[in-house]
Amino acid sequence: MSSYGMPKQRILVAGGAGFLGTRLCEVLLDQGHEVICVDNFITGRHENTERFMNNSRYSVLHHDIINPISLDVNPTQIYNLACAASPPHYQADPIHTLRTCVEGSLNLLELGKRSGARVLLASTSEVYGDPQVHPQSESYRGNVNSVGVRSCYDEGKRCAETLFSDYGRQKQVVIKIARIFNTYGPGMSETDGRVVSNFICQALRGEDLTVYGDGTQTRSLCYVDDMIDGLMRLMNSPESFKGPVNLGNPQEVTVLQLAELVRQLTKADAGVEFKPLPADDPTRRCPDIQLAHRHLAWQPTTHLTTGLLRTIAYFRELLQASSQEAASRPTDIHNDIARSL
Ligand code: NAD
Ligand code: UDP
Repeated sequence: MSSYGMPKQRILVAGGAGFLGTRLCEVLLDQGHEVICVDNFITGRHENTERFMNNSRYSVLHHDIINPISLDVNPTQIYNLACAASPPHYQADPIHTLRTCVEGSLNLLELGKRSGARVLLASTSEVYGDPQVHPQSESYRGNVNSVGVRSCYDEGKRCAETLFSDYGRQKQVVIKIARIFNTYGPGMSETDGRVVSNFICQALRGEDLTVYGDGTQTRSLCYVDDMIDGLMRLMNSPESFKGPVNLGNPQEVTVLQLAELVRQLTKADAGVEFKPLPADDPTRRCPDIQLAHRHLAWQPTTHLTTGLLRTIAYFRELLQASSQEAASRPTDIHNDIARSL
């Protein structure tokens, strides 16, 4: 990945222990930057931070961004990736999700104002709700339910976009807004609950793939490294380009097509189990990425099949390692026998 010719920076990554955040930290460290990961570990994993602990340019602050943040040093860039992104996780505590989006953004923008850092928001395609325009361009205002089960996330991110825009206008903070479309890849957690990780883990375990609804709803899936490249290009773009800008892969597939592809690529002996469609599940989603192409010279380069094969290899190894670990652990019966001796 290019280092965009930038001098070494002190970069705060909020949500740095999550799926995208961990990969971002890794790339930033590889490029020689100093990285401060801020995370409350609500969906992030400690293994994701432990792997960098021997790097003197990396530090972790266990902190919930709904609380104000103060540091001994001034960051030069702040990525706000902190927010559970998988529907079952962000819906588990919707009030905390909303507070994370709104109060968390406010606290990071305040830090940006004090330190002079530019601040990037990881917003989402969910700001378009269940879109009535295809593909979605940034000028589309969306079709969002303000009182549904997804609203904590959709409306939270919409409000965060407003806060970012106002801090840009009123407080002269250099802001950047990325609207991220569904992103997948190695590094996802097996308990993440999103469609790619669910399908791959189910297929590798020989279980039926759980398709919600009739599977005709679409998503456009972007590979993680393409997304990180897009986010970094946006962060390092000229001050005048603030976004919002769509980042995603315009290759649109139905959920059923994705299930079939995962079954083929894993060579799994698994069927499909239809389950009820969650409330407000968007029917179609596909990014128009002309703006990103024009301003950031960015477009994804990883084909879905290539990205899925890499993700399958990653999960195969992860599941094997966890089953070996389980096998080497004494069972409860063994423990009981050991205790009775
Ligand atoms: P993730 O759930 O894997 O990571 C989110 C991280 O934020 C976790 O480490 C979590 O512990 C941390 N976090 C959550 N609330 C926090 C809080 N209040 N304080 C501190 N840390 C907190 O999700 P991800 O896929 O890595 O997504 C990262 C960001 O990108 C999120 O903001 C998400 O909304 C956005 N996004 C992701 C996608 C995608 O497909 N991956 C799509 C659209 C938007
Ligand atoms: N989905 C599915 N089976 C699963 C998980 C998700 O069919 O095991 C569907 C879900 O209903 C949605 C799509 O896949 O239509 C993408 O879901 P995901 O949770 O990955 O992301 P989001 O809904 O936020 O786009």
